[in-house]
Amino acid sequence: MSDTIFSKIIDRKIEADIVFEDDRCLAFRDVNPQAPMHVLVIPKKPIDMLAHADDSDASLLGHLMLVARQVAADEGYPDAFRLVVNNGETVGQTVFHLHLHVLGGRDFAWPPG
Ligand code: 5GP
Repeated sequence: MSDTIFSKIIDRKIEADIVFEDDRCLAFRDVNPQAPMHVLVIPKKPIDMLAHADDSDASLLGHLMLVARQVAADEGYPDAFRLVVNNGETVGQTVFHLHLHVLGGRDFAWPPG
């Protein structure tokens, strides 16, 4: 997988407003927030999209969700947040390093656009 803007954030080559980090993942505020809370949770392992994760990533993927839940709680939205994963260019993925959008703080429509 080639270098993306997110791998540069992991390597501290590009600045980001980091809200959580551990040995497996990083969470930082989206530069173009779509809600009062908009944090991205990414694995440090370079997986370009969910479609390309494999069975050995099961624990890591679960960890990302639990970190997303914790971030939402820490941001003041323990019971009302939305997780979004865009998988592929046609559904809106623009950065090809797997990421969970953690959104909260406003009403959200369903179905999503
Ligand atoms: P995608 O469209 O791939 O699902 O989401 C990529 C997200 O990354 C977008 O919401 C976009 O605003 C965010 N993003 C792109 N470049 C940067 C950056 O350099 N810093 C931060 N913090 N977010 C970024």
